[in-house]
Amino acid sequence: MKNWRDNIRKVVPYTPGEQPKKEGMIKLNTNENPYPPSPSVRKRLEEMSVDTLRLYPDPTAGVLVRALADHYGVQDDQVFVGVGSDDVLAMAFMTFFNSDRPIFFPDITYSFYPVWADVFRIGYETKALDKDFRIRPEDYYGENGGVIFPNPNAPTSILEPLDLIRDILEHNRDVVVIVDEAYIDFGGVSALELVNEYDNLLVVRTYSKSRSMAGLRVGFAIGHPDLIKALNDVKYSFNSYTMDAFSLALGAETLKDTGYFEECMEKIIRTRAWTAKELTRLGFVFPEPMANFIFASHPDIPAEELFARLREQDIYVRYFPLPRIDNYLRITIGTDEQMKTLIRFLEKYINGRK
Ligand SMILES: *Cc1c(COP(=O)(O)O)cnc(C)c1O
Repeated sequence: MKNWRDNIRKVVPYTPGEQPKKEGMIKLNTNENPYPPSPSVRKRLEEMSVDTLRLYPDPTAGVLVRALADHYGVQDDQVFVGVGSDDVLAMAFMTFFNSDRPIFFPDITYSFYPVWADVFRIGYETKALDKDFRIRPEDYYGENGGVIFPNPNAPTSILEPLDLIRDILEHNRDVVVIVDEAYIDFGGVSALELVNEYDNLLVVRTYSKSRSMAGLRVGFAIGHPDLIKALNDVKYSFNSYTMDAFSLALGAETLKDTGYFEECMEKIIRTRAWTAKELTRLGFVFPEPMANFIFASHPDIPAEELFARLREQDIYVRYFPLPRIDNYLRITIGTDEQMKTLIRFLEKYINGRK
């Protein structure tokens, strides 16, 4: 007798960071932005008529695609939008990674990549970062079915230079190379300037971190029109209406307020520098942070212990019990006030333990 259970697709799902809802907690565990979305977003939201919800949204996501194309100086047919960059990346895995060869990504990286590879039955090989958690471009020279990595990398916060991306592209002209730029706005140089030069480069971005809109679920990809058309063909084969009326209107609106956006980025970068200085003073070590988080380790105190003690204080950071990184904490940059509370507690704890 055949059991229906034999025919279930078995996957080990991605585990998102906790979303506790506690009064007064300090949430530094999922790299959200501590500042609210632009005031223009609130205004636009208040102006929206509830009747908007009666109709299907524009399946082409026209206003959002046009706004993004204008903002980044590309053509409309070079922009694809999705329900957060997780949706964009999942579509990209399905669309571009269909060869018999394995795709390549770093051993320490966004932990959703192996999950998508498994759910879409895409073979993959991980390439070990060097001892300083840097990408070795030579590792990506071999025959493969595609390449993906975040820049800056997560959870290390390390930014690789454009030269390295160019090097990887030069050695991979026959496969799609995806650069996941979830954190590029926090001081990095984007690979966007290479999309007109390399027709196999797809740059993926999100509204969830730098644009303070993780709850809206907007992500996008920029690349050659043929890549974008292929993504849209797959999207329309699943669901024509991925982008709801709010995502379209508010996603386009926020791009107009560049002043507020730049102000928020500067604030976070300043708070990051202060936090880095304080963590160093307390004995922590970490790679130079180029995202809105610091990946820190303490030579004398296990990360798992610090994670647990912080949690008791309702200070949530992220801990990954994984090979090579199980003595690190990924600490999101919050407000100055939040970071001061974190440092104050760590200082007291570390001194009390001596
Ligand atoms: C947060 C994150 C994403 C996904 O963000 P969305 O909220 O789905 O847009 C993708 N890649 C990396 C590396 C991330 O850290």
